[in-house]
Amino acid sequence: MDLTKFKKLNKIYSKLPLPREVWDTQEYEEYMEAFHNDKDCQEWELKRRIKEAGINYKKYCCVDMAYYLIEDKISKDKEEINYDSVITQASKRKEFGIPIHDGGSSYIQIKYCPWCGKKLS
Ligand SMILES: [Zn+2]
Repeated sequence: MDLTKFKKLNKIYSKLPLPREVWDTQEYEEYMEAFHNDKDCQEWELKRRIKEAGINYKKYCCVDMAYYLIEDKISKDKEEINYDSVITQASKRKEFGIPIHDGGSSYIQIKYCPWCGKKLS
């Protein structure tokens, strides 16, 4: 699937929840196939979600890091534990870590990006 078609379909398929008559189609299957296997489509979609979350992906080592920080950002405004958060960024320091889901704000610091391998700060 080319990116232009993917972007067009994204307008339809990104509005959740999708009714069955929308997702139970060959077109939706092709769209999801492109999301999972086409690098351009996938990267475009991740950037769209990152931007929607109010994060500037250019400030991070890679799109994946910025994408996985969306859940961290959501977690910071809430009391309850967000088990979907797999990486955290210490707000004041330029530190990244694996969050410990015990109700506190502790984490295990990491020195390299788990997705691209780049040295962090
Ligand atoms: Zn990275």
